[in-house]
Amino acid sequence: MAAGPSSLCRRFDVSIPTQAVVVMMCGPPHEKEDERGTCPAAHDGRRCYARVDHAVVVAKRENAALLVCGAASETEDVDAYVKRARAAGVEKVHPIVDERFRGTLGLLEAAVDRVARYGDFADVTDLVLVTDEWHLTRAVVIAANVVVKTCVRLRRPLLAMRWEQTSPAWNAPPVLAAREGEKLMAFVLDDEASARPAA
Ligand SMILES: [Zn+2]
Repeated sequence: MAAGPSSLCRRFDVSIPTQAVVVMMCGPPHEKEDERGTCPAAHDGRRCYARVDHAVVVAKRENAALLVCGAASETEDVDAYVKRARAAGVEKVHPIVDERFRGTLGLLEAAVDRVARYGDFADVTDLVLVTDEWHLTRAVVIAANVVVKTCVRLRRPLLAMRWEQTSPAWNAPPVLAAREGEKLMAFVLDDEASARPAA
């Protein structure tokens, strides 16, 4: 059997201090005012700063680097969020752009791969995910799956997972929340199918 990580999770070794990295993803653009009310976050047109503003609070509290993740189609949003986080006083802010459009899975694969390959992140023990409540369940399930697979593949001790929901948050349309449930089911079933040997 191939050698695995020397310790499954660095958090099991209490002599190693906890160091987080904060991961946030660009959310769907929306108007500040819509038929469901007013989004409580700062806005620049349809660009909403709710997630990044919450991620800034977490990054400062944890004295952590912040990864701002977006698809290639969201590069302008990524740039705007990186600029805002730096202006708010977060020292280490890294843009992560996924060139392919694979949604939450692609963004988390890119972010976790960046962290797990050490470099600037050698001391990181915890990954703190920041996203909206309606997106959080699926994002946590995918992130945990990606963390385990990436860390095992790279022979790296597992990152401990933590998460926080955006506050104050955008009141997302119910159809978006319903679609999240379907996407979560699809992710779990796809993952199971890919783990099964071919018939
Ligand atoms: Zn908003």
